Amino acid sequence: MTEAKIRLYVDQALATGQPVALDEAQANYLFNVMRLGLGALVKLFNGRDGEWLAAVEHAAKRNGILRCTAQSAPLVPPPDLWLVFAPIKKARTDFIVEKAVEMGAARILPVQTRYTNERLREDKLRAHAIEAAEQCEATYVPPVEDLIPLDKLLAKWNPTRRILWADEGLQGRAALLQAAPGPWAILIGPEGGFSEEERGKLRALPFVTPISLGPRILRADTAAVAALTIWQTTLGDWL
Ligand code: SAH
Repeated sequence: MTEAKIRLYVDQALATGQPVALDEAQANYLFNVMRLGLGALVKLFNGRDGEWLAAVEHAAKRNGILRCTAQSAPLVPPPDLWLVFAPIKKARTDFIVEKAVEMGAARILPVQTRYTNERLREDKLRAHAIEAAEQCEATYVPPVEDLIPLDKLLAKWNPTRRILWADEGLQGRAALLQAAPGPWAILIGPEGGFSEEERGKLRALPFVTPISLGPRILRADTAAVAALTIWQTTLGDWL
C-alpha cells in the first residue's frame, strides 16, 4: 500500500474501524479524478477527532466507503484567538478566511460596520475554510459565523476576551504588543476604515487594546495577516 497523499475533510465521526460514507463529490474526486483503487489510503479529518488514515473499501462512480485504520495525528486546536473582520471585496474576503485558517484562528466572525458595503456568502466562506485546512494540514477548522453588526457583537461581548483592535488612526506608532495571555480577538476594519463614532466607542471599551500596524495604511486583507502574525508571535502558538 502506498502512502496516503490525499487529505480530505469529512463531516463524520472518525475512530478505529469506523466506516465513512462518501458523497458524490468526494467519490468523484477520489475515484474518477485521483483514480484511487480499493485498499488505497487517504487521510481524513473532521475538525474534532484528529487525523485518520482510512482505506478505500468500496469505490463507485457516485459514492464509496472508506474505513478508518489508525489515527495519524491528534487534534491540534489553534490558540483561543478569534478573527473579527469587516467583509471587503469577494476575492479579498476569501483570502482573509483562507489566511485566518493557515495562521491559526479558532473562530472567524464577519462584522457589518458603518463603512461595510459588501455582501457575504457564508456557505462559500465555510467551504474556503475547509479547503484551507485540507491544504495546510490543520486538524481543526475554525467556524465561520454569520455576518453580525459590530454594535450587536460588542453589546454581547464577554469582557474576559480582549480585543486587539487594528486602529488605522495609530498608523506610524510602534507596533509593540504588551499584553497578557488569555482569550483574544483581533478586529480589522473594512476598506473605508472605522467611522469616528465606532472609533470613539471602541476606545472607551475596557477590553479593547488598540494597535498600530506600522507606518503605512494596509489593505484589510494584509492587515488581518499582519495582526495575526503579531499576536501569534507574542501570545500564540508560534512561541
Ligand atoms: N481607508 C482607511 C484605511 C482602512 S485599512 C484610511 O484611509 O484610514 C483597513 C483596516 O486595516 C483598518 O480599518 C485597520 O483595521 C487595518 N489597518 C490598516 N493599516 C493599519 C495600520 N497602519 N495600523 C493599524 N491598523 C491598520
